[in-house]
Amino acid sequence: MVVASVGPDISSFAIRGSYVRPMRIETLAVHAGQGPDPSTAAVTQPIHLSTTFEREADGSFRQGFIYSRYGNPNRDALERCMVALEGGAAAAAFSSGSGATLAVFQSLSPGAHVIAPDDTYYGTRVLLRDQFGRWGLEASFVDMTDPDAIESAIRPGATGIVWVETPSNPLVRVVDIRRAAEIAHAAGALCVCDNTWATPVITRPLELGADLVMHSTTKYLGGHSDVLGGVIVARANDDFFRRIRSVQTAGGVVPSPFESWLTLRGIRTLPWRMRAHSANAERIARFLDGHRNVQTVHYPGLASDAGHAIAKRQMALPGGMLSVEVEGGRKAAMALTGRLRIFTRATSLGGTESLIEHRASIEGPETRAPEGLLRISVGLENAEDLIEDLEQGLNY
Ligand code: PLP
Repeated sequence: MVVASVGPDISSFAIRGSYVRPMRIETLAVHAGQGPDPSTAAVTQPIHLSTTFEREADGSFRQGFIYSRYGNPNRDALERCMVALEGGAAAAAFSSGSGATLAVFQSLSPGAHVIAPDDTYYGTRVLLRDQFGRWGLEASFVDMTDPDAIESAIRPGATGIVWVETPSNPLVRVVDIRRAAEIAHAAGALCVCDNTWATPVITRPLELGADLVMHSTTKYLGGHSDVLGGVIVARANDDFFRRIRSVQTAGGVVPSPFESWLTLRGIRTLPWRMRAHSANAERIARFLDGHRNVQTVHYPGLASDAGHAIAKRQMALPGGMLSVEVEGGRKAAMALTGRLRIFTRATSLGGTESLIEHRASIEGPETRAPEGLLRISVGLENAEDLIEDLEQGLNY
């Protein structure tokens, strides 16, 4: 079976010392930052647990590693791989996606203003409002699908970041990254894109004008629901990125060598997993759309979806996340999850197993999720089995 690469050629990369250009994302996912260990010839990289590294008599460090909070070979490999996948200049890996988000806001000056989506990931909203609010950071939450709303929220001279999250959580809304970046740049602000749901296989925010890309690697990049992590990839290794690096290393918000190794292992299969997640989600969305017990399906792969046109421009695939509003509100939604056999009732996304979640009850009173909404992270099971499971749950 010959399957074309889902994205354009994004980078050249050295394998065994020779540059082959350009390489496609499947090859980068397997080789970037990786390769046989020079000291043992082990094909997969060993996990380097040492916290400290020997210094030469002249005071130098042979491989550039000094102390593992500042740098570690496994973390370094993960960061190199992410630079290649996103087409950036530098990357910093963190102990969680929220740690990565925190490092970006922490790098702004006190009193700065941030524009974020009104349906941004709940944890990002909590960070902006509860943590950084106390440090003088101001945040406006707007409907990012409306460029006029972003423009009106700009505070000239104060807005430091336009934070984009696409597709969004839990309504799977698609934001035009190119437009958001133009508005940010016209105001002298940075555009940061949370690319967790799309991954670089589907969307490359830096190519669309974003300055920084953020990921919760806990999700699709790790891909197996067994490792927490985050990363920031920067278009330029500039002063702002150096501040982010300083939060990472001076603040010590770092992933362990084992977590870095596990995340990189997950990344090797990312392009192939994303194809399968997306193909399964498309079939499930089509099944749910029009079912008599379903009110609305939110999925950019459906031609009727509000985000479909932008998705066709900026997403190589519609992705593995969808949400569905069922007839009968909260009670019916909860009861449906109780009847499912294959879907697991749990938060998070991006693993091999399909997860289903009633977002309103997990987010609490401030939620923007409709009461009848269920968010689905479509896994890698057989789509027929998943559809049959949903069918018996809905037709009860
Ligand atoms: N951004 C998005 C879109 C997420 O879905 C999540 C987690 O659910 C995060 C950020 C935070 O990541 P983490 O849980 O790794 O801190």
